[in-house]
Amino acid sequence: MGIAKVLIVDDRPENLLTLEGLLEQPGIEIIRANSGEEALAHMLDHDFALVLLDVQMPGMDGYEVAELMRGNKKTKHIPIIFVTAEVKGKAQVFKGYESGAVDYLFKPLDAHIFQSKVGVFIELFHHKEALEQKSLELDQKLAELEELQQQLEQTNEQLLLLSITDGLTGLLNKRQFNTNFTHEWKRAYRNKSPLSLIIIDIDFFKAYNDTYGHTKGDECLIKVAQAVSETVKRDVDLSARIGGEEFAIILPDTELKGAQFVAERVRSNVEKLAIQHEGSPVSDTITVSVGTASVVPTQKEDTVSLIKAADAALYKAKGEGRNVCCTASLSC
Ligand SMILES: [Mg+2]
Repeated sequence: MGIAKVLIVDDRPENLLTLEGLLEQPGIEIIRANSGEEALAHMLDHDFALVLLDVQMPGMDGYEVAELMRGNKKTKHIPIIFVTAEVKGKAQVFKGYESGAVDYLFKPLDAHIFQSKVGVFIELFHHKEALEQKSLELDQKLAELEELQQQLEQTNEQLLLLSITDGLTGLLNKRQFNTNFTHEWKRAYRNKSPLSLIIIDIDFFKAYNDTYGHTKGDECLIKVAQAVSETVKRDVDLSARIGGEEFAIILPDTELKGAQFVAERVRSNVEKLAIQHEGSPVSDTITVSVGTASVVPTQKEDTVSLIKAADAALYKAKGEGRNVCCTASLSC
């Protein structure tokens, strides 16, 4: 518990001494003033738990001091006990309350009444102090919570990204490919619009890993993935890594001819990377085989038919000596 400061104001030194004697106890710091002006000056320098204010003073009297206190933001909530020799009827008491007095004590002071009244205000002060401390702690906790909330949101975003993308290449992963492909299939079925799928496989990638090691292998995958995603220009097109060295592109609203054009650009863009591949029997550099298929879906659930057709086209491309693009027809 902190120290409670009490301001005692009286024009007569002997009265100040009496007040001091009654107030003296651990936990209370007494500040003295022998005029209203001096009292107001102290109030600007200290935070008081209570002001014991003599009513009858030469110059500024106790009521005037109270009025001025109520008009000031820093002092308006400080409790006041008026200390007065006499009360000239009810009007006088009322005047005190109007100016914001909270209590009266009459001279000569009764020690028991004095201490119990003052005690109430000191207790109130400590309650207020404790509440302010709690409120401060609460504000800190709230700030901490807000920060934690932000961290949680960031983590969730990262988790979401991790759950839909391939960690190495940043393309969509197989699971997300399946989700998006099914979604696009259903949309194409509803709109009776063409949907194309391109499947890309790096030629002799196992031999590349065997020759250059897995670190180089990963670098190669990243470069090919980049070439694939950079070839795909439209926002609606989606590129994914669907296997170790296998990539796919979903092209909504695209007929076979358009898809073939994209497939050929992917093949040639990978070739342009000019990644040396001594272990390849078909080229000095990394190449890809590409299978393309297209359909206007006539059945709502038959998504696998297009994947099978694109796979068949890829198989054909491998059969034709790799580093080529082939298409397959789709019967459904
Ligand atoms: Mg006096």
